[in-house]
Amino acid sequence: MNIDRYRVRPGDRRALSRHHPGDTSTLRDKDAAQERLLRSITHLEERLELLNAQNERALLLVFQGMDASGKDGAIKHVMSGVNPLFTEVHMFKQPSSEEMDHSFLWRAVKALPARGNIGIFDRSYYEDVVVVRVHPELLNLQQLPPDLVGPRIWNERFEDIRSLERHLSRNGTVIRKFFFHVSKEEQRERLLERFETADKNWKFSARDVRERQNWAKYAAAYRELLGATSTKEAPWYVIPADHKWFARLLVAEVINDTLDRMDLKAPVLSQVEKRHLATVRRLLGPSSAPSRRGSVKPRG
Ligand code: AMP
Ligand code: MG
Repeated sequence: MNIDRYRVRPGDRRALSRHHPGDTSTLRDKDAAQERLLRSITHLEERLELLNAQNERALLLVFQGMDASGKDGAIKHVMSGVNPLFTEVHMFKQPSSEEMDHSFLWRAVKALPARGNIGIFDRSYYEDVVVVRVHPELLNLQQLPPDLVGPRIWNERFEDIRSLERHLSRNGTVIRKFFFHVSKEEQRERLLERFETADKNWKFSARDVRERQNWAKYAAAYRELLGATSTKEAPWYVIPADHKWFARLLVAEVINDTLDRMDLKAPVLSQVEKRHLATVRRLLGPSSAPSRRGSVKPRG
């Protein structure tokens, strides 16, 4: 699968119209993708162990999408085998009053992953150029000085976001961003299912249904931000999301491609460290148990 086809080129404001939400690349069905996804997940786990052992870089994954676009399910599946000890997951909801008393990047900066860790942002500071742009009354809640609020605020925010992401990348955080591209019709089907399936009723939100009226405004906001903030160091990927199995596989493959380019290796000890290791080893005394590596087999 040519994953680079889904990467948004810097400045491309037509990235969404280049991809059909129902696209499945060269894969025909869920069965064809399933085995491949499992292999991808295993590979991912192994690479992330090395990322952690090396303790130099962090990986930040940003997930955005319309309601019911399937990003939460994708996070759950793709990350299913990853060690929770070095995974930092954050959901970004409506900001609290404390958060609104700070710049819009503040709460995200506090949640960034440490070196060796993988950070997952389920929504992010990008909400501040999406939902806040669609609903200008939310901007009024942000307590900004009035002279700083005007039509240029969105371009200024794009600039601030690019600067933050460049700063992070210069300090060892590798960033990949995923936009879950679902069609309006498929979203309708998924919302209907939440009404009609008893054990999915809890997911139902009247707000999600009402927000469909603003579909075109959301799409316009996303079109603009994808072009303005997809950069070499922090690219966006458009993830066709009408088929959940395809979206999950594509996300897993983009993450693996990223990790494979990172030249991850378990740290190698220097001669001095090896001598130190041998000295410390002697403190433990001789081993009484047979080797756990299976090299010593009982004779019989
Ligand atoms: P959900 O992801 O369905 O749990 O919903 C979280 C809600 O929080 C979404 O409707 C987001 O648009 C909203 N949200 C996230 N960040 C912000 C923000 N900075 N300002 C206003 N609403 C936000
Ligand atoms: Mg929701």
